[in-house]
Amino acid sequence: MSRDTHTLPFGVFSETPDGPRRVGVRVDDLVLDVGALDLPHAADFATASLNAFLARGRAHWDDVRARLQELLAQGTDHLLPLAGLTLHLPVEVADYVDFYSSRHHAENIGRMFRPDSPPLTPNWTHLPIGYHGRAGTVAVSGTPVVRPSGQHKAPTDDVPTFGPSRRLDIEAEVGFVVGTPSALGTPVPLGDLAEHVFGVCLVNDWSSRDLQAWEYVPLGPFLGKSFLTSISPWVVPLAALADARVPAPPRETPVLPYLDDAEHPWGLDLELVVTLNGQEVSRPPFAQMYWTPAQQLAHLTVNGASLRTGDLFASGTVSGPERDQRGSFIELSWGGAEPLTLADGSTRSFLEDGDTVTITATAPGPGGTRISFGEVTGTVQPAR
Ligand code: MN
Repeated sequence: MSRDTHTLPFGVFSETPDGPRRVGVRVDDLVLDVGALDLPHAADFATASLNAFLARGRAHWDDVRARLQELLAQGTDHLLPLAGLTLHLPVEVADYVDFYSSRHHAENIGRMFRPDSPPLTPNWTHLPIGYHGRAGTVAVSGTPVVRPSGQHKAPTDDVPTFGPSRRLDIEAEVGFVVGTPSALGTPVPLGDLAEHVFGVCLVNDWSSRDLQAWEYVPLGPFLGKSFLTSISPWVVPLAALADARVPAPPRETPVLPYLDDAEHPWGLDLELVVTLNGQEVSRPPFAQMYWTPAQQLAHLTVNGASLRTGDLFASGTVSGPERDQRGSFIELSWGGAEPLTLADGSTRSFLEDGDTVTITATAPGPGGTRISFGEVTGTVQPAR
């Protein structure tokens, strides 16, 4: 069997749980110890994050990728079995932005949260809506999901109460990792996505719907989101995804020139799979996202806000038009009105203590192959 020397996702590992961390590149069930190789700026790889490597920019990323493919073709002794390693947060996250770019998700949430208004707000087809999240609580896959406590108030209650969230949820998303920074005051044009973004990871934006519903007006998501955001340990280089590029779905509203992506179609045909306790519950199609990462990057910098190495921006919940393509439980169970029935006969609207949610994804690779993004997983622990 030939090895996958095309994808070459980057991560950070240690040989013992508390041992020194260094950069690795995954090759199937092996990890290439890149710090041990004769590469330019090899010291970048003897560090606990990808940030030093990411800061060097597109020409260097492409050069290292070509050298790794050459080395792997020749054969190398520096491959370690993945099974024995501990994986860590790959990036020291600088700023974290989360978008809201699936039309199907936004319409579903709009119908549930604002039943007396049109499902999409008037701005939705004109700009990729987003918010700034909490970078310090972005954690690697496998980090326990401690049930958050906070204020909740049902519409029928007179006053809020405090306690563990009763509507703990997931958001299946795709994240984009920024390497090359930009200058304060200077927008990044839509065509420069690949100059700034190194690669792609999977994101679970754990969400407390009861905390969120009470707190979000008028300034948007806050404590219902900031308790934890999990990302996959492997960052797939944008350079590996040439065969996955597709145009975004048709837009019915003309966009302003800085968001016009006719010359730079950056839709990506990732197929996500969401499992709950091992049972598949959804297959969200990323190709159907209305706003692309190039449009998101152009929008988030159009006011002159600068990028830093390690910035992470996530797509927003990925939902397709079908019920089994929805990327959150609030949509899958329609706010609890239509609970899911699991294989063991139990039902689920929102997550219970002990539940494990895993998101995986694949995308078209060269010659009919499939690129794997690995997984982002987490198990719910009781409130503390
Ligand atoms: Mn989200």
